[in-house]
Amino acid sequence: MSLLHNFFLFYFLFPLIIQAKSLKINPINPFFEDDIGCEKVQYPSEILTPLPYLKECLSTIDGLVVYPGDPYYYNSIKVMNCRYHYFPVVVIYVTTISDIQKSIHCANTLNISVTARSGGHSYEEYGNGGRSGVMVIDVQEFNQININFETKKTAVIGTGNRLGTIYYNLYKAGFLLPAGYCLNVGIGGHATGGGYGMVGRKYGMASDNIVSAEMVTANGTFISPINSNHHPDLFFAIRGAGNAGYGIITSLTFKIYPIWPIVTTINLAYFSDQIELAFIIFAKVVKNLSENLNAYIFLMPKNNNNSYTLSFNATYLGSEDEARSVVKELIELSNPAYIKFEEMPWWEAVKKQSPPFNRQPFKVTSYTIPPQGLSREAIRFLLNFINNMECMTAVFFDVYASDAISRIPVNSSAFIHRNILFVMELETLLDGHSKNVQNMCVKKHLKFSQGFQEKYTSYFCYQDYIDKDLPDWLTRYYGPHVPRLIETKKKYDPDNLFNWKQSIPTELP
Ligand SMILES: Cc1cc2nc3c(=O)[nH]c(=O)nc-3n(C[C@H](O)[C@H](O)[C@H](O)COP(=O)(O)OP(=O)(O)OC[C@H]3O[C@@H](n4cnc5c(N)ncnc54)[C@H](O)[C@@H]3O)c2cc1C
Repeated sequence: MSLLHNFFLFYFLFPLIIQAKSLKINPINPFFEDDIGCEKVQYPSEILTPLPYLKECLSTIDGLVVYPGDPYYYNSIKVMNCRYHYFPVVVIYVTTISDIQKSIHCANTLNISVTARSGGHSYEEYGNGGRSGVMVIDVQEFNQININFETKKTAVIGTGNRLGTIYYNLYKAGFLLPAGYCLNVGIGGHATGGGYGMVGRKYGMASDNIVSAEMVTANGTFISPINSNHHPDLFFAIRGAGNAGYGIITSLTFKIYPIWPIVTTINLAYFSDQIELAFIIFAKVVKNLSENLNAYIFLMPKNNNNSYTLSFNATYLGSEDEARSVVKELIELSNPAYIKFEEMPWWEAVKKQSPPFNRQPFKVTSYTIPPQGLSREAIRFLLNFINNMECMTAVFFDVYASDAISRIPVNSSAFIHRNILFVMELETLLDGHSKNVQNMCVKKHLKFSQGFQEKYTSYFCYQDYIDKDLPDWLTRYYGPHVPRLIETKKKYDPDNLFNWKQSIPTELP
């Protein structure tokens, strides 16, 4: 979930005031073209100097190979966070396993670092290497979606797919997959770092539903299958840390579930003077709600329009009547100023929960909130901060509290965020501000973040909302698994070919 969905604010929070923009979706490939948004920045001249032998070495690649200076070069850098301008030394749209192996061979020979890119939605641009001069292996051509119609329980999904394409094609076949809200996000970087979304409380994280994977490693070996029997160390690592530098994952096999014939979206909204009480009630009530109900909470700064600043947005797997009875207590206790239930087919709910987004400069930090929730003091501290920020700052709370997430033992995969109430995401949007103001806003965001986490949240943070300024990030993302993840990294990538600021290192820092 992300505030980058800027229409979203209006769509959910001001439903009475502003008509929602209708979504224009291509039904086969239902995500939005995304090479727009960030200003184009001239790349440094040294990037134009071809690396000796690189072109020659890559000359037998079947897929498109894009170098600086090529007409398609700018468009081949899919920038998500416009704060960063990184320039890969080459972008390779690999089409076969052999293309990946050849690319890796050249990178090893010429001493170039390599990064995998799926949807290009990393907050820190790690899909583009997180710095200039990296070889980007883009897997978008690995786009198969193969449902096992015999068992009706699994689907093999190429890591080049975006969530929207997967949801739509599974929906057409009568299935769903638990994963995030944004249709543009790539499954390769998303599901391998956790992946929370539409049906997380019911079926767990996307990573919990991975049963097998295929990968090309740093020495060019294609490993298949990676599962609980074959390469169990790698299977452990890729479910939570698979986007942190183990290799190029080409496909993931997921458990899939039958779609629910009818679902109900629920939108509750509150005025700013109701926020403290609402949060106390949420903490008390949400963990006991039926797991057919999946929700996130969105908190915006106070404005002068006397409009809602807090919303509870849920998808209930079932009818409106059932949904109404499930949230009856929540409504009675929290007394929302706006209430809306809407029955619709699953795909309509998916689209409704995932409006378009804007690329722009931003800063995001994340926190895991323990089962008791946030204290009144913490909520006041948070409100005081977002209400006084110069740059638009808002908060998402993904509701985790559920058996589906917490009953899975922490030791079963690299994903550790199990027994929590919310993952909280603090987003500051920087668009429209001068560089000085942007820098000041980021500084303020980080200062607040440190104090807030020290006093009010757990020590841990969510790795899919990656933050390069986070101190002690290895422990905060992976907790007790750090030594095990480093051992596995040493085994499959001893020379650290896949490396960036927050990839798993080969040694403890
Ligand atoms: C608008 C927006 C909405 C979001 N909504 C949600 C949400 O609802 N729920 C949620 O949990 N998260 C959400 N996120 C976070 C998202 O899950 C992460 O940013 C995720 O890592 C993006 O994956 P990607 O493939 O699109 O990005 P990329 O930039 O392509 O990749 C991200 C990381 O994964 C690695 N990687 C990518 N593909 C592969 C591969 N094939 N093999 C190995 N490594 C690979 C990259 O090297 C990089 O380090 C959202 C992000 C955005 C920008």
